[in-house]
Parts: sequence; C-alpha cells; structure tokens
Amino acid sequence: MRLTLIMAGLFLWVFSSAQINLDELDYRFESSAAIIAIAEKLKSNEPVEEQEWAAVFATPGYRAYLSFSDSSAKKELVRASLEEVFLDSKSKELDADLKKDIEMDFEGLRLMFVKNLYALSQNLEGAKEFMTETNLSETIADADSVARLFLPSDRNFDTSLRKQVYFIVSDPDGMVTDSDIVMDLNAALGMSRVELVKFLAHEFHHDYRNQITDTPTTPLRVEINKLHQEGLADLIDKEVPPVKKMGLLPKELVNRYNSIYRGTPEILAKLDETVLKFNTSSISEEVFRAEVKDYFQFGGHPNGFYMTLLMKKVVGMEALIDSCNDIVSFLELYNQCALITPGEYVFSEQFIDFVAEEKNILK
Ligand SMILES: [Zn+2]
Repeated sequence: MRLTLIMAGLFLWVFSSAQINLDELDYRFESSAAIIAIAEKLKSNEPVEEQEWAAVFATPGYRAYLSFSDSSAKKELVRASLEEVFLDSKSKELDADLKKDIEMDFEGLRLMFVKNLYALSQNLEGAKEFMTETNLSETIADADSVARLFLPSDRNFDTSLRKQVYFIVSDPDGMVTDSDIVMDLNAALGMSRVELVKFLAHEFHHDYRNQITDTPTTPLRVEINKLHQEGLADLIDKEVPPVKKMGLLPKELVNRYNSIYRGTPEILAKLDETVLKFNTSSISEEVFRAEVKDYFQFGGHPNGFYMTLLMKKVVGMEALIDSCNDIVSFLELYNQCALITPGEYVFSEQFIDFVAEEKNILK
C-alpha cells in the first residue's frame, strides 16, 4: 500500500498511543482519521490542499467505497457535504438542509450525507476516541464466532480469506465489496457492541459460505443464490419485518422493503412462471435473461429473509445450516416447508429442476 507523507502523519496521530502493527489488524481507521483531520481544518478555517483530498480518496477504505459507483460524483458528494457541515461560511445552507425530509432521489442521498456528517460533527471527540481507543479485535473475533454458529460445524474455514473492515465517513451505512467491508464511522458509533458484532457476523457469514459454495454464473442461479445467502445471513442481524425505520433511509423505501417482504409468495410465483415460459419457448433466451437479471429487489434481502424465517419456524436452524452450501437443497427444503404452510408459494418441480440444470442449459 502506498501512502503519502500526509497519510503517514495521520497514521502517527491515530496510532501514536499504541504500538500496533498495521498489517496484523483486520480493521483500519486511516480513511476516517484522514477525513476527520480535514474536517477539523475546515472547522478552524485552515486551508485544505487538493493533495490532502486526493490522499483521503487514495486510502484503501475510500478506494473500496468509490469502486462501487460513479466515483467522481461520490467524491464530490463527500467533499461538498463535509464542507457544508464544517465550514462556518456554509451554515445557512446547512440549517436549511437539516430541516428537509429525505426523499428518494440524488438530493435525498446528498441530504443523507449532510445529516450523517452533521451527527458526526456533534460527536467528533467520541469519534476520535473510538478510533484511538477501541480495540476492535475482540469484537471481530466475536463476530467470527457468531458467523460460525450459522455454518456447518464440521467444515474448515480459512479465516485469512475473511474481509478486512475499513472505516470511512460517508452515508450512514456499511457496504461490502468483493474483498472489503467498508463502514461509515458514524453508523458504527451509533451501534451497540452487540449490534456491531451481528453486523460483522452477517458479512463474515457470506465470506465463509462462499468458501463452501459454487459461485453461480447463470442468471437464475445468481438470483437464487442472493435469496439463499442474504436469507441466511439476515437471520443473524436483521429485525423481523415489518420494520419501522432503516437508519436515515426515506420512509418510502422502508415501506417498499416491507411490501416486498409481504409480497414474497407472489414474487416467487412470478419467477416460476417466467422459467416455465422460457422452458416452453414462449419467451426467448434474451427476454428470459433480461427478466431474471436483478429480479429480486434489495439484493434479495426481504424475499430471502421471508423464506428462511419460514424454514426456521418449520424445520429449524439445523436443517437450514445443513443445506447452506447448495441452492437446490435450499429450494427443496423451502418447498417442504411451504407445502405444509397455508398461503405460501410452492415452487413447481420444473422450476427446481431448471435451477439444478441451468448451468448445462445456458452457457
Ligand atoms: Zn448480506
């Protein structure tokens, strides 16, 4: 990892109180520390050089965060929100923004940044204390143990393949890339230790399940795998819907999540029908692929969780864990549960056969 002199300076500031070998840590605060150093400069009206911003965005945490979506727009969002919250000259804009409701558009995302950074500005000392004094190694070890409770106990998992946790300052959320967990510092500050353990355990569960599961490559298997992996991991950390609040997310989005959860039987039925249409050549492969791609909203969370909650109730956790590495066994087990529960959707045999065979049907 390359670091500029500025970053090296920040490192010394953050880790000066303890002799910690950075390479041995599986969590890192350099991104959040670097941006808080900028926030403090803005607050005291000191100039911030372009290269300081560049150095912040070059830290591993922000690199991972920005790899996800339009990085120049995201960089601008981080920067403009930080300036609005910490520069005296922007206090009028800040006051106006804090009064606005968050809606579902880009302006809503901007307001989420502003409101979250404002909350951080009100607890800057707490944030610095969290970064300098918290030893998260125990929290991470506990999260690891919790994740393993939801996995087969007779399998070996490679802990070194588990994701690193990077703290940044952003919208109030945690997100996951192929190799990293990127978490907003203020979101972490707002969590109890148990909540943080569960949040991390959810992500570690994905890492470990991936070690014992084939990576899906065909459209329908990709979607079923989303249901399976999120359904299982949500049992670790998610509240049973209907949920009242999801952080700063707009009410409209919370309502949509609840309604997609409730609508699971219809949503599953419609997918089954799409597969039937493709099997009977009523639709082309092109149409099939387009209809199946990203079929499940919210990354499969609400529908997957609906399924695993039903399964947990009917056959129990052990059976869910036994089938955790195979999406076809997952669907078969789900069907057993749905069959004896009024109002639940039972997948057709053809649907499950298609999931099992899709690799050989579609290249
Ligand atoms: Zn997940």
